[in-house]
Amino acid sequence: MQLKVTIVGAGYVGLVSAACFAHLGTSVTCVDRDRSRIDRLEQGESPIFEEGLDELILEGQQRGLLHFSTDLAAKVADADLIFIAVGTPSSKGDGYPDMAQVEAVARAIAPVLSGYTVLVTKSTVPAGTGRWLETLLRELRPDADVDVASNPEFLREGCAIRDFLEPDRVVLGADNERARDHLQALYRPLADRAVPVVMTTRETAELIKYAGNAFLATKITFINEMADLCEKFDADVEVLARGIGLDRRIGPLFLKAGPGYGGSCFPKDTRGLITIAERAGAPTRLVEAVNSINEDRKASMAERIRGLLGGSLEGITLAVLGVTFKAGTDDMREAPSLDILPRLQAAGAAIQAYDPAGMEHAENLLPGVSWHEDAYDAATGADALVILTEWSQFKALDLLRMRETLGQPMVIDLRNLYEPQVMRDAGFVYHSVGRGSRT
Ligand code: NAD
Repeated sequence: MQLKVTIVGAGYVGLVSAACFAHLGTSVTCVDRDRSRIDRLEQGESPIFEEGLDELILEGQQRGLLHFSTDLAAKVADADLIFIAVGTPSSKGDGYPDMAQVEAVARAIAPVLSGYTVLVTKSTVPAGTGRWLETLLRELRPDADVDVASNPEFLREGCAIRDFLEPDRVVLGADNERARDHLQALYRPLADRAVPVVMTTRETAELIKYAGNAFLATKITFINEMADLCEKFDADVEVLARGIGLDRRIGPLFLKAGPGYGGSCFPKDTRGLITIAERAGAPTRLVEAVNSINEDRKASMAERIRGLLGGSLEGITLAVLGVTFKAGTDDMREAPSLDILPRLQAAGAAIQAYDPAGMEHAENLLPGVSWHEDAYDAATGADALVILTEWSQFKALDLLRMRETLGQPMVIDLRNLYEPQVMRDAGFVYHSVGRGSRT
């Protein structure tokens, strides 16, 4: 079956999905309402920072398989599958996912549906969304031959292309044979490479996405609490994580203590799950605790830094390495830096910062921060160096040069990028997370 795909939304998920489907041989049009985004894409320039994406977009365009447009209505009639990959941010108030962008897509495509079409939610959406969209489409276009399916996305920014092309699994939720066949045909190239495909109902697929993110957020929050405990007992959270992670029932991943999780998914999706579950009458008390512990943790990091600098930040200059929520992305959504830096500034600190990819986005979000061209430039004359994001270049600093560049040789490493003894031997006063007196 030679399928034609339209993807609505050229953001982190939509654009990566479009480029990867084209790479797998499918003809794809990626549509966005943001004209400047589409203009840049048509000129072969990716509007987001993601390793390998520029090359993949170019490859798709050269093969004639990848197209871009702002005109959604014109790209509906032809499509066998239409993917919704627009934002589902937390709504103001209780954090329930705001479905306005998803609804707008359904309303825009309804009048122009033609032939059999499967509308697929790739955005993270509450359980019941597929059913709701189907009802809406039947109301708007009773004559349309359309099914609604769910295909949640699990890619991670920073390694999104590999995650898409070599995923741990693909989850497909559909309630009838025809929709299932379309989805299976689209994903056959991955299934042929032995990628496990979980074929289920729409509601289960929708819930899998929230359950997965909530579980991962729980794992991070758990190890962060263990880090606090380690500090009280002069124990080492890195060794503790290895000690529990070697148990195959636990696993070694996502046991990295740090400043609290951020990003475009975990905070929003844990809040989303909490409200979805509350409204359904099955509260997720564990996830509620995870969410509030994490919020407290991000807020407490500024206090921790203040304490390490003797209790006052008046007149102190801090060099900050990394402001994005994690390495490998320019995404600033709910980055811990957005909690931590304004608190440091309010306590009197001047901030000199550097990030390899996030500074353009961060500039407006973090007023008053001075931005620098590299780690050493940011560190010049500072009273301490604070490592906030685990970019690989921050793991390989020239320690001698850094010590000479800083005003005071203090490093506060909230990502545990260095061995405490190595830093001490290099002449630093070194503080990290959950490593007892070695922190
Ligand atoms: P994003 O904000 O980067 O991209 C969304 C895009 O949709 C924007 O470019 C916006 O202009 C466009 N858009 C919105 N309404 C539109 C419309 N009516 N017509 C055309 N274009 C429209 O968002 P994202 O990070 O790609 O996330 C999209 C969804 O995928 C969310 O539900 C998110 O939770 C989920 N998700 C994100 C990730 C991630 O790592 N970012 C991973 C898995 C799932």
